[in-house]
Amino acid sequence: MSDGPAIDAGRVIADLRELDRRTGGPDGAQRLCWGEGWRAARSLLGELLAELGLEAERDEAGNLWGSLEGEGGPALAIGSHLDSVPDGGWLDGALGVMAALGVLRAWSEAGVAPPRTLTLVDWADEEGARFGRSLFGSSAFSGTLAVDELRGLRDGDGRPIGDVLSENGVELDRAPRAGGRRGEVAAYVELHIEQGPVLEAEGLRAAAVSGCVGIERHRFRFAGQASHAGTTPMDRRRDAGLAAAEAALRVEEIGRRHGGVSTTGALAFEPGIPTAVAGQAELMVDLRHPEAGELAAMLGDARAEVEAIAARRGCELEMRPVWRIDPIRFDPELVAAARQACTEATGSDRVLTSGALHDAAEVARVLPAAMVFCPSAAGISHAKEEDTFEADLVAGIEAFGLLAHRLVRGGLQPT
Ligand SMILES: [Zn+2]
Repeated sequence: MSDGPAIDAGRVIADLRELDRRTGGPDGAQRLCWGEGWRAARSLLGELLAELGLEAERDEAGNLWGSLEGEGGPALAIGSHLDSVPDGGWLDGALGVMAALGVLRAWSEAGVAPPRTLTLVDWADEEGARFGRSLFGSSAFSGTLAVDELRGLRDGDGRPIGDVLSENGVELDRAPRAGGRRGEVAAYVELHIEQGPVLEAEGLRAAAVSGCVGIERHRFRFAGQASHAGTTPMDRRRDAGLAAAEAALRVEEIGRRHGGVSTTGALAFEPGIPTAVAGQAELMVDLRHPEAGELAAMLGDARAEVEAIAARRGCELEMRPVWRIDPIRFDPELVAAARQACTEATGSDRVLTSGALHDAAEVARVLPAAMVFCPSAAGISHAKEEDTFEADLVAGIEAFGLLAHRLVRGGLQPT
């Protein structure tokens, strides 16, 4: 079977290195969204599109699109995000954008129109590292961006989100209009690094991704009684700090019990001095599972067990939800196609659930979507040490190229 012109993985990697040269440094990638490094990354992408005779277009949410006209529509969209966390890695997001460019380049240089229009998309502000709202551009596209919830946000320098976006040509109130493009797109696929250790540990070079985990993030606050560390007998204490510490250990156990992951990433004691029993303590808990039922069970167990700890230690407990998202399943047929492409290109037959969120999860709410993962060396990401062995990069890029070519040649249901 002919799959169309092959992607040149070496050129994709050369583009990634050039991007790193322009926007990276000794501390890692500096492409914080809406800032100078991010704009420099986009101007490189604009130059590379121009080499193919294509124009970069921006929608109302600041997403950047570049289309190679095919024989028909709606388009197959491919891409990821160029923005990074501060001091981030060179591949997170950038890999998917440059691989998408590689797919467009393959058709363009072969001088044949693809059977279906191919559209590259660079989603704006995937990371949410500046204003705390991740998946900005892709959620504007999918229709879940609640502008009123964003209006009050400020960055670390106290600058309002509206002002920063305006400087980049984006009016916050108009951002949801980016959803107007949905009708032009049939499906979306994205290549991304795994950002975890599983593929490397299993010696695999690529994997299909079946979806993204659901997340329950909650704040548990214990109120006991602050008292003197020397004069309060052990059996007379209402130690909120130890209640929180016990809760953190219990939360860890709950993640293991349900086959999910659970994290207490923040724990604070008040007054937080060595000479007093902590009167108040607070922990932030993040629970994740690919199955909605199991995620609900994890949360149910956490609530019941943390309540019991509070009661036993004579503390009051306040539980407040911080943020939640349901698990998202990618389109089964696209996942199967991704799996097939990975198997053929790399010999690795593996399907993973992503423990992190991605733009594809937002897109999957409204269109068939799927992802391919490349391994991450030592599982490290969001850090300057983030890397992938070159042979693995080549294999992942080729698997993604094969997937995109197949989808563009057929196999997509009309939407
Ligand atoms: Zn990413």
